[in-house]
Amino acid sequence: MERANIVIIGGGVIGLSIAAELSKNNEGVFIFEKNKRTGQEASSHNSGVIHSGIHYPRNSLKARLCISGNSKLYEICRENGIQYKRLGKLTVANGDSEIKEIEKLRKQGEENGVEGLEILEGAQVRKIEPGVTVDQALYSPSSGIVEPDELMSYYQSRTRINGGVIATETEVKSIRAADTGYEITAVAGLNKFELLANTIINAAGLFSDRIAAMVGIDVDRMGYRLHPCKGDYFRVSGNPPVKRLVYPVPKGAGLGIHLTPDLSGSIKLGPNSYYVKDISYNVESSIEEFRNDVRRYLPSIANREILEDSSGVRPKLQGPNDGFRDFVIKEEGELGYPSFINLIGIESPGLTAAPAIAEYVAEMYSDSRH
Ligand SMILES: Cc1cc2nc3c(=O)[nH]c(=O)nc-3n(C[C@H](O)[C@H](O)[C@H](O)COP(=O)(O)OP(=O)(O)OC[C@H]3O[C@@H](n4cnc5c(N)ncnc54)[C@H](O)[C@@H]3O)c2cc1C
Repeated sequence: MERANIVIIGGGVIGLSIAAELSKNNEGVFIFEKNKRTGQEASSHNSGVIHSGIHYPRNSLKARLCISGNSKLYEICRENGIQYKRLGKLTVANGDSEIKEIEKLRKQGEENGVEGLEILEGAQVRKIEPGVTVDQALYSPSSGIVEPDELMSYYQSRTRINGGVIATETEVKSIRAADTGYEITAVAGLNKFELLANTIINAAGLFSDRIAAMVGIDVDRMGYRLHPCKGDYFRVSGNPPVKRLVYPVPKGAGLGIHLTPDLSGSIKLGPNSYYVKDISYNVESSIEEFRNDVRRYLPSIANREILEDSSGVRPKLQGPNDGFRDFVIKEEGELGYPSFINLIGIESPGLTAAPAIAEYVAEMYSDSRH
């Protein structure tokens, strides 16, 4: 049987960033991606926001990897000509309970180490965003936007330059723990093949719980079962009503329907959040739901034309009535699966955290070999 050193399952931004990092110092790095092209799932169906790190509990992986990913990502963009803008973000509040929420976010952000956070009064907000009518807002200057496809192309090139192999249309069907590694059965086009891998890195996004189950992990006992949670986007046609990222106070499973300028300045609204059984990328929500939500802080939205845009599906560990769940990034030696590294529940801020996740996994990989 052919042997590979490291097989990364999944060619989204996470698998690609890990491949680029590991292939610097290791031979025989392979990515298996089931789709025709890399980055066709969550990594190209998101808001493209570089998050600051205010939203996650102190010391969580989400907080730590988001904050370190934020500065690494800006550096990668600057040095490699990847399009980005450090726009800054307003998290807006109307009424006492929302004001308390943004104060909590400011405190949490500062505890996490986010720099430059500032509470602005309504009049200060109107000066910088005349269309936004709110009592107060939390300003985070380190938030921005990036073009995810360009970031993924960069990681893809780095991997190839380093000698890594990216195999698309290659779907992993089963995994068996063997004495000297893992036997993988995969299908590439019409061909079925088997391969022995020393190390497996599971970066399969929405399918990562199934990949963990394939090797024999009890995903329910471990709390690894994913709950796909969809978010739709609409687009405001005509002149952009804002220049910065504008978010409401988070509620439910998402961050609330926000305004995200893209690199051309055009404004996307969304995503909302609702749990789904099947994964599809058609827009299912109503324009009126979006208009009513956004109207609370951007009254002019009432008269604007809004068009359907796209949608994405979050690989959430947090079920409908659950509290906060952190990323799972773990080498499963303790479960009897050494050199099997799981990345499960890599929802937002996964795009922001990608460069930091790659370094974290590379360290985990080298620790697992000593
Ligand atoms: C609506 C939405 C908005 C978001 N907004 C932001 C944001 O603004 N900022 C931010 O930082 N993050 C955001 N995120 C999160 C971010 O998009 C994800 O964390 C990130 O893209 C996850 O990347 P991934 O590589 O883990 O997953 P994916 O991109 O889904 O890649 C996983 C890959 O694995 C492949 N795969 C699955 N099973 C197999 C198999 N058996 N064999 C081979 N290949 C397989 C899939 O085809 C897929 O390409 C958002 C996510 C969503 C859904």
